[in-house]
Amino acid sequence: MIPIETFDILGVPVHAVTMTQTLALVETYMAEPRVHQIATVNPEFVMAAQADPAFRQVLQSADLCLPDGVGLLYAARRIGRILPERVPGSELVYLLAERAAARGWSLFLLGAAPGVAEEAARILCARYPGLRIVGTYAGSPAVGENDDIVRRINDSGAAMLFVAYGAPKQDKWIERNRQNLPAVRVAVGVGGSLDFVTGRSVRAPRWMQDWGLEWLHRLYKEPWRWRRMLALPRFALRVLFTRPDVDHPQ
Ligand code: UDP
Repeated sequence: MIPIETFDILGVPVHAVTMTQTLALVETYMAEPRVHQIATVNPEFVMAAQADPAFRQVLQSADLCLPDGVGLLYAARRIGRILPERVPGSELVYLLAERAAARGWSLFLLGAAPGVAEEAARILCARYPGLRIVGTYAGSPAVGENDDIVRRINDSGAAMLFVAYGAPKQDKWIERNRQNLPAVRVAVGVGGSLDFVTGRSVRAPRWMQDWGLEWLHRLYKEPWRWRRMLALPRFALRVLFTRPDVDHPQ
């Protein structure tokens, strides 16, 4: 197993990994017969976890909390640590699909609006010949649908699962069902990534990503997010004004 450092960002674990290391970890996870949970953490996750201890607990018990958000890189620096790079979920889905095609890992796409997972599956299969997407289903994270969804995934025999219900629902869904998915090895909360695959959402241009301005692009394209995105300045203030040596809630 590759040794990885874990940084505590306001009580939320974030693992100091690169995309290359993430893919290597996934290889080892796929060889171990249990569900490994991967979360794509950004400042919105961290602020949501301040007010939601159950969500914080889910992140603390995940196998891998990826640094998906430039704000985390700045926050790590504030506590004297270096996160080597962003590992965005929206890029990871492509690289995992590519790896799944090469290794023969079967994939299930859960969540997003009706029809999106099916369209994303068609696009990914065309892009990565040999990729086996053995199931797609929008469903809902509501508890009442839980058993039906678990049955669908288990009937498909999928070894890898992408859950696109947004945070914290997707991450709580995975945690709640970890014990009920015997064939699954890796489950990733992928947020809006399937919407990016299908072109329903468009990522910020490269220069904006490089300048840490992806949030501005998202606010421009999806202005109704403004209230949720207040988490970003609140996160920045908390990071600036929290003394690195104080304890955070566990
Ligand atoms: N979504 C869903 N069911 C829900 C809530 C959200 O399928 O009850 C889907 C939504 O259609 C989108 C995805 O979850 O495809 C991620 O939503 P969002 O962009 O808000 O999440 P983020 O990427 O910010 O975590």
